[in-house]
Amino acid sequence: MKAKFIQCESCKKETAIESCEFATHRTVIEGKEYVFCCETCAQNYQTKRKSH
Ligand SMILES: [Zn+2]
Repeated sequence: MKAKFIQCESCKKETAIESCEFATHRTVIEGKEYVFCCETCAQNYQTKRKSH
């Protein structure tokens, strides 16, 4: 059995998806899905996008 990893769009940390895919934080921005390790990273990423 292989562990699946997702990479956080904000901090680039790799997070293992084990039995529960919903352990990661997902946000849809402008129709595209982004995956984050936590809600804080999701918020940071959205704040960065807005700032330019
Ligand atoms: Zn992160």
